[in-house]
Amino acid sequence: MAFELPALAYATDALEPHIDKMTMEIHHGKHHQAYVDNLNKALAGTDSANAKIEDILKSISKFPMPVRNNGGGHYNHSLYWSIMSPNGVGSPSGDLAKAIDSAFGTFDAFKQKFAEAGTTRFGSGWAWLCLKADGTLCVCSTPNQDNPLMDIAECPGTPLLGMDVWEHAYYLKYQNKRPDYIAAFWNVVNWTAVAERFAKAK
Ligand code: MN
Repeated sequence: MAFELPALAYATDALEPHIDKMTMEIHHGKHHQAYVDNLNKALAGTDSANAKIEDILKSISKFPMPVRNNGGGHYNHSLYWSIMSPNGVGSPSGDLAKAIDSAFGTFDAFKQKFAEAGTTRFGSGWAWLCLKADGTLCVCSTPNQDNPLMDIAECPGTPLLGMDVWEHAYYLKYQNKRPDYIAAFWNVVNWTAVAERFAKAK
């Protein structure tokens, strides 16, 4: 079965005013669709055409660059849509809140570190909150469509929260003001979804 574009769990205008409808339409319907199509093209007729995307990413060093770029693009965007919600709440709770406090001191200190990872990523890429193999949380960023699941990652881990900082994620509304997009992003984070990823990854 070929990879498919996942449907959004909310309308394209549901994240307004923080993320605008046109950005969502183009980002999901055009950019993500292109990653899916190009991933399918790159894997067509190979043993990995029916593999799980996570398994492909974990051995990405064995694949050609189009699989790395488009497989990463497909996984990263699927995660990104799933950790946003029009009913985003202010902060995490329970075990996730405890793990964040223990790794970063406070929730605000975590937010600052995560925002910094996104702001200082030169060019295109992603900021991540990850669970490391030792059971602790970390913040990092990756270039292009790389991610911490990949066996080439400098910061290996299981992604719990990912923020797209490619210009296509914010340029229509925020132009060159990436920090404004990052500040707005906190209003649409679905901490319930992040906590579910955390519970599953542990
Ligand atoms: Mn994107």
